[in-house]
Amino acid sequence: MRAIADFAYPHQCLGCRLLVAGGLCGSCIRDFPEVGPGAGFGAEASGPYDCARQRFRFEGLVREAVHRLKYRGEWALAEALGAEIAQLFPPDLQQVAITFVPMTEKKLRDRGFDPAHLLAEAASAVVGMSPILLLARTIETPPQVSLDPAERRVSPQGSMRCRLPAPESVIVIDDVFTTGATCMEAARALKAGGARWVMVAALARSFPLPGPSRGRPAI
Ligand SMILES: [Zn+2]
Repeated sequence: MRAIADFAYPHQCLGCRLLVAGGLCGSCIRDFPEVGPGAGFGAEASGPYDCARQRFRFEGLVREAVHRLKYRGEWALAEALGAEIAQLFPPDLQQVAITFVPMTEKKLRDRGFDPAHLLAEAASAVVGMSPILLLARTIETPPQVSLDPAERRVSPQGSMRCRLPAPESVIVIDDVFTTGATCMEAARALKAGGARWVMVAALARSFPLPGPSRGRPAI
């Protein structure tokens, strides 16, 4: 994969401009704003997934790194960011499969790569695994951050399906967790496919302001 080959070359760190492999240095990553256990974590606990964790708050350098990965094709960033997602994994991964929230096929054709897939590859590599392509989008859905709160809750319903019989325990990786609606759809699809335990592991959590948010940049 071109993205993997890209990891081998030094890039300027997004934060401090030092030349580093992967485009982010450890020191700048340590300064990323973490999502603490008290940061509104419980609201999604009753979703169809059994556990949802996010590593960082979607702001500042985290936001810029995600945008560069998603929209500017700076694939080298996926290695460092994916490794951070791996920090969220439970210690015992025996019998656990790792997958990701995929883009629609149209978006994948337009963009040429799937950022969540790259993050899942990098996170899985940390624990000596490879992600499995388990999910498929069945309908196009607008980016969550461009919707108002009511639309966010309803739009993704029925938007995903499980392509294969799902393993019993699955970690599903996404880049940005906004309301959890997309991850709920992923978890519903995985459970319909046979999974009994689903964990959502996202790089970042966006905390959108209440009220209409049209016109805000899509993530
Ligand atoms: Zn740095």
